[in-house]
This record gives sequence, C-alpha cells and structure tokens, in this order.
Amino acid sequence: MTRQNDKLTAITRRDFLAVSAASFIVASSSKLRAGDRPDEAEPWHATMRRCGQINFNERDPLTMDVNAWADYWASLKVDALLLNGGGIVAFYPTQVPYHHRSEFLGSRDLFGEMAAAVKQRDVRVVARMDCNYAYKEALDAHPDWFERERDGSPRPHNESPWLYRTCMFSPYFSAQMPAIYREINQHYPVDGFFTNGWPSTGALTVCYCQSCLKVFRDQVGGTPPEQTDATSLLYRKYYNVYMERVLEVWNLWNKVAREQRSDSIYVGNLGGGIRTVKNVKRLSEVAGWFNADHQGRSGDTVIWDCAQQGRVAQSVMKGRTITNVTGSYSNSRPTWRHVTKAPAETTLWLAQITASGMVPWFHWLGGAPEDNRWREVGRSFFNWLADNEPHFRNRRSIADLAVLYPQSTIAFYKSGGSGAWRGADRNQTSDYLQGLYYALLEGRFLFDFVHQEDLTPETLRKYRALLIPNAAYLSDKECDQVRRYAATGGSVLATFETSRYNEWGDPRGDFALSDLFGARTTGEVIGPLGNSYMRIERQHTILKGFEGTALLPGPENRLPIRAADQSSPLLSVVPYYPAFPPEMVFPRQPRTDEPAVVLREKGNSRSIYFAGDVDRTFWRSGNTDLSQLLQNSIRWLLGDARPPVSVTGEGMTEIFAWQTEPGYALHILNYNNPNMTRGFVRRFYAIGPQKVEFDVSAGKQISNVRALRAGRALPFKQSERTVRFEAPSVVDYEVIALT
Ligand SMILES: [Zn+2]
Repeated sequence: MTRQNDKLTAITRRDFLAVSAASFIVASSSKLRAGDRPDEAEPWHATMRRCGQINFNERDPLTMDVNAWADYWASLKVDALLLNGGGIVAFYPTQVPYHHRSEFLGSRDLFGEMAAAVKQRDVRVVARMDCNYAYKEALDAHPDWFERERDGSPRPHNESPWLYRTCMFSPYFSAQMPAIYREINQHYPVDGFFTNGWPSTGALTVCYCQSCLKVFRDQVGGTPPEQTDATSLLYRKYYNVYMERVLEVWNLWNKVAREQRSDSIYVGNLGGGIRTVKNVKRLSEVAGWFNADHQGRSGDTVIWDCAQQGRVAQSVMKGRTITNVTGSYSNSRPTWRHVTKAPAETTLWLAQITASGMVPWFHWLGGAPEDNRWREVGRSFFNWLADNEPHFRNRRSIADLAVLYPQSTIAFYKSGGSGAWRGADRNQTSDYLQGLYYALLEGRFLFDFVHQEDLTPETLRKYRALLIPNAAYLSDKECDQVRRYAATGGSVLATFETSRYNEWGDPRGDFALSDLFGARTTGEVIGPLGNSYMRIERQHTILKGFEGTALLPGPENRLPIRAADQSSPLLSVVPYYPAFPPEMVFPRQPRTDEPAVVLREKGNSRSIYFAGDVDRTFWRSGNTDLSQLLQNSIRWLLGDARPPVSVTGEGMTEIFAWQTEPGYALHILNYNNPNMTRGFVRRFYAIGPQKVEFDVSAGKQISNVRALRAGRALPFKQSERTVRFEAPSVVDYEVIALT
C-alpha cells in the first residue's frame, strides 16, 4: 500500500511551521454541573448515561465542520464525547517531539476547536489517544520505544506499514505518552483520556526489545513462550509481570490525567466478552471506568454477545461505570468502516448495553461521511434513553442465581486427559459457559456473573445457587469459598472437570470439591466421543419432561467417577458405540453403574455434579434435551421458593431486573429472530404479551407501572410484595419501570 498523502506533505510542512501558540484554545464556557467540583464524592463519569465518539482520520482537518458535528452529538444528548487528541497522529499543534502532527492539520487545531464546540454544548470531552504505534521518525530517534521481533526488526502495522508498534515496557509508555497527556491537559479542558487498543483483555504478546529482554532477564527468569501456555512456569511469571506493568502504566496515566483536574480520569480499552485472558478482576481494581470495546458481532457470533460482555464487566466493576462501544459502521468480517450496519442490529446491541447496566458509547469513523444512515439509529435510541434517564440509573441487579465466571479456565484450560481427548482450543474453553448461558436464557432465569476471584460471603450472600460451568482451574482459596458457600446453605451446580486443577492448571488428581460433589474421579477424561448416552434409572424432578424415553443424549466428554453414595445412580452412563454404519449401531454395554450425575441434599444446600461436559455438548449440538436437563437441574437447586421476578410467555428473550433510583426496572430483550445466531438482525419479530410477577421490597407500594418503549402505563395488581402485570408485545426491547 502506498501512502496516499505524500503529495500533500510539502504543503503541510509549511503550514506546520505557521502554527502559532495562539491556536491553542482553552474553552471555559461549559457550565458547572454535578461532579464538576473536585470535592464531590461522585466523579462525573459515575453518572454518565450516554457517550459518543467521532474518530478523526488524518485528513479530517481539511474538511471537518466542527459545529455541525458538535450539533449532531448534542442532539444525541451525550454526556461525554471522545475526540482524537493524539498518539499516532496529533490533531492539535503539538510541541512534543516525535508526536506526529496530522499532515493535513495546517493552521488548524481540530482537537481544540472540536473540544471547544462540544464544551459549549455542555458535553464532557475525553481525549481519545492511541499509544500503540508511532512513525519512522520516532523509530529512528528512539529505537528503544518500539517492539522488536526476535531478530531485532521492528513491527510495522500490517495495513499501514509506515507505522511501527510501540512497546508498553518501554519509555514510550513511561515518558512519551505522559508528556503528550500533560500537553493536552495544559491546553485543553479535557475531562479524561482514553487509549484505543490498550491494554485489551486478549492474549499476552512477547516482544524482544531492550526493555523486554531486561524484564525477561531480571523479572521473568527467561524468555516466555509466545503463545498462551499456563503449563510453562515462565509464562506464569511473565503473566504476573505483564499484569503488574499494565497496572503500573494505568496508575501512572491516571495520575498524570488528574494533575490538572482531580476529577479527570484515564480509561483503558478492555472488552473481549467472556474470552478474556488478562485478569479483568485485577484490571478493575485500578479502573475507575471500564470501557468495553465490544463494537459488534460477525460470523456466527450469537446475538447475546453484548449483554454477556455486560455481565463480565459487572462481575468486576459491581456497579461502577462501564461503557460499551458500538460500531455504527459495519464491523463484521470483512469490515466496512464507512457504511452503516443494519439499524436493527445496532439497536439491539445498544439495547443489550443498557439492559445489562452498561452505558452506550456510539461510534462513527471519519468527519466526512458519505453514508449518513447511522446518524438516526443512534439519535432515536439515545433520545429515548434520555427521556427515561432515571430508570437507567441502577442500584443493584435483582437475580437469585450466580454463574461463576471461570476466567482462568477460559484463559488457560488444557485438559490433562487421555490422548483421545485433544484438549480445548481458546474458543472451546468458553463453550461450557456459553452452553449454560443458552440454557439460562431458554429457562428465563435471572442471573449474574460472579468472578472466580470474588467468591466472598458478601458477594454470594444474595444468591440462592452458584452455577459452575467447568471451572476446571480454581485456586485452593476459591474452592474453600465455594465449600463455605454450600456449608452456609447455598446450592451449587458444577460440571465436568470443575476444581480438578489449581488456578494455573496443575492437576490435583481429583476434585478439590470432591466432598461437595459427593464424587471422586476414577480415571482420565473419556472423549470426545459422540453417540454415548445417559440412561434414566428412576424418576426425579430434574428428569421432568423425559417421560417418553429411557435414554438422554450423553456428553461428548466425561470423567469416570464413583459416587460417595453407592446406591443406584439417577442417570447412568451408556458408553459410546459406533454411530455408523447402521448395522453396527447397538449398545455394547447397555447398562452400567457409572453415574452421569450426582445429587446431594444437606440442610438447605443442594448440589448437582455432572461428570460430563453437558453444558459444552449442549452448546455444540444444540440438543434440546440437554438444555431441558440443565434448566430442570437449576430449578431443583432453587427448590420451591418463587423467583424474585418471573416472566412467562412465548419467545426467546434475555431478561434483566434492576433496582433503580426511582424504583425498579424490568428489561426484556427480544432475541426471537432468525438472525439470533448469525448476524445481522434485519428486522424484528414481535413477541406476544408476557405475564410478569415482580417481587419488590417488603413495604414498598408501587403506584405506577410503565412500559418505556411502548410509552404507556400498564394496569397492575399488587398483593403484598408481588406486583403482577402483563408486559405488552415486545418488538425489539422493552423496559418496564415500576415506581
Ligand atoms: Zn518490548
């Protein structure tokens, strides 16, 4: 690819010299709002409900109409707008050496003009930075700033090879970026800084620059593997050193951001949905604001990918600010940056953001769009949000089920099973959770994710059951916490290899939670094998609905186990037999005494342990019996008590319930769509009315129930704590406010 702007370089060099200090603009026109005063306890971003971003390109200074853009964003009633400050390209006349000014900046100060225009409209400004690449001039002057291959060569960007990747262990992150932040902070009234693309939650990368070689020598004790490999002691050391460096940089940048204004903030770039490798719990401890760069889906990604991102972020932020970026352009595969994504898809994505308690951040690239269809998509949704703002101020989630978010298993899992079991690749490690998630949605359960490093009694107290989708990797402490939860009356469902390894994957030989499961392993993982079964040996609540069959589909992988209670199993294992050719399809061992599931009751605590990967097998096969079995099992765990909120009716939905500042809100997302598992959503298929029973706090009298999307009050009845009403037909998304 040749650089398109070479011809213009000469002009801009001249203009570059013409830039005077006078073009620095300090806007001071914005009105003081709550949170402006640094002595206030709540930072401004804690109350932010809507956020926007126009991503400048290098050419934008030639044509960008600052006031028209500021008007557009103000029409969305955003609280904050992200504007490109610098990093790769400075959009203001920087004086920081090797901070590359836009070739087209001329005498303009695009960042300053835009920041002033936005501030005039009473919108906060966050400088959007990019710390990940810099130009050849910087590479020549500061070779130590850049990532290196093993042979010492720098790492050019794959699409824009005139840019080179910077190293986070280098002075570029410790000194150059802070110098840029300080310059922006001194000259512009910014309310925060955001870095695109860093730190991310993805896999660690390995660099061979001088800084990194020193880190390997002094802190890691050798060169770590380039791929995620938690079996390597060097990888484990590097993971910790890497996380420490991320937190060090985050804290430094946050400190620099606050030098001018104590309520300013640095926010990094996270996301990754359920497939995070970097420890989001540790990141949340430095993050005042969690930004999930989770802009859309592609291929066969399921529609709930965004709400699920919300649950991951909530598990570590616990009510603190979370934003989720939404690409209004077509960020599928392939990606088109300059055309609008299907409006229904974008709307449902934005709806998932707000339903899961995040703040939407609407995003377009480039100051001179030729496709303007995206504008109204964001405007109509944001205006509806603004009109109903108090109902999106959540206090706490209402859910009686906790799903353990098994981050170290998802990041590192490699089964230690027999040769036949080829282990799990990165995508597969989240399949256990994904299968359970699908069953939870089908069963219309209310649930929260709880991070594996947050299993304290305070966190778990509000949940009646903890569901553990193959958390194979758990620390001793985490296992003790699960055990204590059960001992105090909590119920637990766990699958497959849960607790069989420590947090890094060192095998324990047996489950750490063997006592809780009432089972121990008698061998290694068997599988993956199809055409095995679970035989129904007697009737039980968890087998409701299976009256016409003696066989249920078996999990693709299982651990052979022995139950502490030697009485006949509820479901026994029928081992694999050939599925082809038909002449060979008959069970060689129609009956065994090997249990497929072990149930226990002790006081109020119930436990269910599935020896196979029923969750993952459900996800991969779509088999409805496995979903039903999981749903029945969860209902048995919960016992006879009523759920805090029930929503009954037709259709595939995801449901969230929140206690809000004015009362309560029930969010119903309509996923009933042929594009549920493959984007994009083209149109919506309304689902019929839903019967709702909603338990409010004792003594709370509800006086108004209103459907915010339909825009009308609903008749309701309250008897004691229970409010009963019929939710109207849901087109895309409905929020019912109880006040
Ligand atoms: Zn390096």
